[in-house]
Amino acid sequence: MFAQVALPLPSHKLFTYKIPSYLEGKVDLGFRVLVPLKRRLISGFVVEMTKTTTVKNTKEIIDLLDLYPLCSKEMLELTRWISEYYFCSWGESLKAVLPAEIQVKSEVWVERTNDGSLIADDECSVNHSSSIIHHQSSLSLRQKEILKHLSEKKIKLSWLKRKLGEKGLYADLYDLEKKGWVRIFSELGKPQVGIKYEKIVRLKNFKCVPSEIELFKLAISALKRKTPKQAKCLELLLENGGKLSLEKLNLEVKENSTALNALKKRELIELEMVEKLRESDWGLDLPETTKIVLNEEQKEILSKVKTGLESNTHSTFLLHGITGSGKTQVYIEAIREALKTGKRALVLVPEISLTPQIISRFKANFGDLVGCLHSRLSPGERFDAWRKAKEGKFPIMVGARSAVFAPLENLGLIVVDEEHDASYKQDDPAPRYNARDVAVMRGKLNNAVVILGSATPSLESYFNAQNGKYILCQLEERVEKRALPEVKIVDLREERKKGKGDILSFDLSSLLKEKIEKNQQALLFLNRRGFSAFIKCGECGYIMRCPRCDITLTFHRIDFSMRCHYCGFMQKAPPLCPNCQGFKFIYRGVGTQKVEEELKTNFPQAKVQRMDLDTTSKKGSHRRILSDFGNKKFNILLGTQMITKGLDFPEVTLVGVISADFSLDLPDFRAKERTFQLLTQVAGRAGRGNLGGEVIIQTYYPDEWAIKLAAKHDFSTFYQTEIEQRKELGYPPFNHLILILFSGENENKVIAQSERFCLLLKQMLTRENFKDTEVLGPAPAPLSKIKNQYRWQAIIKTKITQKVVELIGKILEGGKGFSPKSFGEKKVSCRISINVDPIDML
Ligand code: ADP
Ligand code: ZN
Repeated sequence: MFAQVALPLPSHKLFTYKIPSYLEGKVDLGFRVLVPLKRRLISGFVVEMTKTTTVKNTKEIIDLLDLYPLCSKEMLELTRWISEYYFCSWGESLKAVLPAEIQVKSEVWVERTNDGSLIADDECSVNHSSSIIHHQSSLSLRQKEILKHLSEKKIKLSWLKRKLGEKGLYADLYDLEKKGWVRIFSELGKPQVGIKYEKIVRLKNFKCVPSEIELFKLAISALKRKTPKQAKCLELLLENGGKLSLEKLNLEVKENSTALNALKKRELIELEMVEKLRESDWGLDLPETTKIVLNEEQKEILSKVKTGLESNTHSTFLLHGITGSGKTQVYIEAIREALKTGKRALVLVPEISLTPQIISRFKANFGDLVGCLHSRLSPGERFDAWRKAKEGKFPIMVGARSAVFAPLENLGLIVVDEEHDASYKQDDPAPRYNARDVAVMRGKLNNAVVILGSATPSLESYFNAQNGKYILCQLEERVEKRALPEVKIVDLREERKKGKGDILSFDLSSLLKEKIEKNQQALLFLNRRGFSAFIKCGECGYIMRCPRCDITLTFHRIDFSMRCHYCGFMQKAPPLCPNCQGFKFIYRGVGTQKVEEELKTNFPQAKVQRMDLDTTSKKGSHRRILSDFGNKKFNILLGTQMITKGLDFPEVTLVGVISADFSLDLPDFRAKERTFQLLTQVAGRAGRGNLGGEVIIQTYYPDEWAIKLAAKHDFSTFYQTEIEQRKELGYPPFNHLILILFSGENENKVIAQSERFCLLLKQMLTRENFKDTEVLGPAPAPLSKIKNQYRWQAIIKTKITQKVVELIGKILEGGKGFSPKSFGEKKVSCRISINVDPIDML
């Protein structure tokens, strides 16, 4: 028998290995196996098995790496789809499915042979025999060094690389190996984490019934006088229901080993190793679970979901509900229904660290049934959570992006909360998948119900709902008919004229003052991802856009040019604003620290807390800040994107947006959508309690409709307006985009390669008669240089993603100067990465 093995390499082909006799009958699809590849050992997954093969000289599988297949058949199918759709190798997408911690890698080692030792030792002696002199002189300086370093023990290749430099190292080593002086071999490294065990002490043959308890009590009183330690140990064990971890026992009874040994001899106790589950601290303090009765709108949606669950067929619901309309409550009840039918449920939330509140709500409702997977877990915690899910111990899994691969069998329901969120898309490394779309696919494969929820659905999802691909459900009112907050737009140009700065406008200042006096709370939002490579008029806020793509032009300091990074359009940067003839250009926005200073000067009595990457780098700090805010330890929470979602603090009566413009100025066709979403989400944090709420949005573009409509909470008009524009320019959802990024140290090579690639692709498209597919670029990427790597990009607009991806594959694999090597590997002159359905266009 032969196995086709998917390896975690960029190469798209599968590798064929022979199944050795000692593994016959044991190997199955989805098993992780150890196989030799060139000089390395590497782990991969068995994805197909065949009786025969046309491949010559197949090597044998060395071993199975687990007791059972880590990858279910469903997961194999899902990962194959991912590799085809998102253009990566099957092995790469399989790698994404497992927690990184359990992956084993092999290390390459080098060791000196006896002959090699002779040569090296002779280096130091005086009497060179002629043959040795001959050998010596044929060695390069580095080869001599290698032999010297290898004097005592084997050395890792990676160490040699660091010590002696990488260039030509292999050639030197292979030469030495051919001469028979060194041996190169690989050994398996250890996985980062494994199962954790702890020692348990238990009363022997103990059953917790009165008669036995009496017996042990007798024993205790008998031991008490002569051997008090033994008695104490027994007492503790009895108090704890018959068992206790050795660790705890040691804390209570010091120096107990003699006592324990004696008790063991008397056959009163026994020691045992048991698995210890590492569990992380959960979100916030658990909220009280008052029984919530769904309102009519919510009930109607739940009944549709229920029908879906009971019919065992796949359907995707788009739950569009304004902020605070009770979406989360619908998810909770839907999960309850899924569990009733004996199914399991998966809940995806954007970056979990941002949404501890939502997790606590699941935990409060379902207790120990909920497992959690996210990036803030320690490797051990993540490994345990994954393993327990695999064993079926957590029927509900909650997690961020990669939790879409949580190993749940019998999956009945998948919830994707805030489905529009950009964090669902993975950009690097491959697979560059969107967890929301993978969730829908996983739902299909499992005949499961998928609920995509958001107050501001992505244009793509809403479009799908309009077309009947998804079932649209709406929650149009806040629970208990609470009002949406009043939103006021403040024109920063006017403030400037009045001599006010652009951080705290008159309106925002006076409202802040009022809230502080009333001891109410405020959220201030600053979008930190300002992108400064554009120039904007400081007088009128004008910013230049590409006439063809409606994208902010990116400013290039080197030649004072402005370029469109979609189509390559270029013009010189003007000395004066073309709109108002002003000459004060703004290059950079403000940061959270600056705002904090401004607040402190203006409101010395206010208690302000900043929440951004700096203040939340420590584990648990995010949770602490939110918890303190909930307990009203401070009035003003100032933060970045982190505070836009999921927060539900009833005493927040004011939300201030310091600037709505950062996201609007991004050179991205989704800039308006982003802005609308951000503003709606932030505004939604206000007035969630009975006190009502107000929102201030500061901007240089008070007439921009994305801002105006967000202020009116009008998604529907926003969608209608934006979808028209998308249609006109052929942006998603009317086309798919594929972003091809070329990067390398040598700019000329990067440009040449990108041009050659685009030309080839265009030729192939013409030949195949793909008329509706457009290749834009190449153009410099908006971040045109990162870490000494020059970046150029091309954008493809197409309706037939799969076919175009196949063509790209042909170019990359089929030679023509683009060896498979030039793709994926860092060392080569130009690295090419393919991103299907990109979200972040920077
Ligand atoms: P969303 O997820 O849409 O922002 P939530 O589900 O968080 O909304 O609901 C907002 C608040 O209203 C929460 O505190 C929640 O407990 C409460 N809530 C939800 N549904 C109801 C209901 N039917 N009756 C009363 N309170 C509700
Ligand atoms: Zn353009």
